[in-house]
Amino acid sequence: MLGGMTAHANELAVDVRGLRKRYGGVSAVDGLDLGIRRGEVFGLLGPNGAGKSTTVEILQGNRSRDGGEVSVLGADPATGTRAWRSRVGIVWQDESAPVELTVGETVRHFARYYPQPRDPREVIRLVGLEAKADSRVKALSGGQRRRLDVALGVIGDPELLLLDEPTTGFDPAARRQFWDLIRLLADDGTTILLTTHYLEEAEALADRLAVVARGRVVAEGTPAELRRRYGGEATVTWTEPDGSPRAEHTAAPTRTVAALMHRFDGEIPALTVTRPTLEDVYLRLTGQEAVR
Ligand code: ADP
Repeated sequence: MLGGMTAHANELAVDVRGLRKRYGGVSAVDGLDLGIRRGEVFGLLGPNGAGKSTTVEILQGNRSRDGGEVSVLGADPATGTRAWRSRVGIVWQDESAPVELTVGETVRHFARYYPQPRDPREVIRLVGLEAKADSRVKALSGGQRRRLDVALGVIGDPELLLLDEPTTGFDPAARRQFWDLIRLLADDGTTILLTTHYLEEAEALADRLAVVARGRVVAEGTPAELRRRYGGEATVTWTEPDGSPRAEHTAAPTRTVAALMHRFDGEIPALTVTRPTLEDVYLRLTGQEAVR
C-alpha cells in the first residue's frame, strides 16, 4: 500500500481511496474516491448531508475515519506531523480570531505559528483588507470577517488550502468578490479544495469537480466534461406551418436542423436547440430533481 500511495503522492495533492465514515448508524462517507492534482482548484459539490464536511475534516486530520486510504501532500492526515500541518491551510468558520486585536495584529500573530509564513502585509492586501488593517476584528462585517479567516488560512503559505462551504450566507456581491480572491490564490499556485452546495460556485471556480451524493462521488470531471458526459440529448423545437409546436430529442441536433432546413427550404419557424444545463445534470446525479 505504501509504495502505491507514495508514487501517487508525487502527482496528487490529495489521494483518497474508498474512504468511509459512520456516525452511529449513519454512513456519512461511504466509499469515496478523490484525486486532486497539484495546482488545481477542485470543487466538491453536493447537497447538504452528502458527506462533504466530514471528508474535509478527515483530510485536515481533525476527524478519524473508519476505512479507506487517505494521502494529503504525501502523508496520512491521521498521523500528520506539525510540519505537515503547516503545509495545509485551513479556513475556520468559527470565531477563531481574537476580536480585540486589529486585523494587522491578528495576521502577524498567526504568522508566528508557521516556519515560513507569508508577509502579513501582502496577505492582508491579497484578501482585500488593506483599508481595514488597523480596525479591530470585532468591527468587521461578515464578509470582511471571512476574508480575515482566509488570510489566516493562507498566512503559513500552504501548498493546499481546504475551504468548507466558504461562501454560505454571503450575498451575491460578496460571493463574487470572494470568488475573485480564490482565483488570485489559485493563480499564486495554491492547490485549493472547496466544498459547496452551489453549483454555480463550483462551475465558476473549479478546474475539476466531483459531485458527491450519499457519501460517494457520483461524477467527476471538468464542468464541460460533466455536461457532455451526463447531459444526454439535445432538444430541437420548432413550429409547423399549421402552427403546431414540435419537439425532437436527439443526440444529433445538427442533423435534425439540416433535415428541417431542407424540408422548410430555408428559415425554420421558431427554431430552438437546447441542451441540459449543468444544473439539470447536477440535480439528476444527486437525485434531487423531484424536490425542485
Ligand atoms: P455535508 O457537508 O455534505 O453537508 P456532512 O459531512 O456534514 O455533509 O454530513 C454527512 C452526514 O453525516 C449527514 O447525514 C449528517 O447528518 C451526518 N453527520 C455529520 N456530522 C455528524 C456528527 N458529528 N455526528 C453525527 N452525525 C453527523
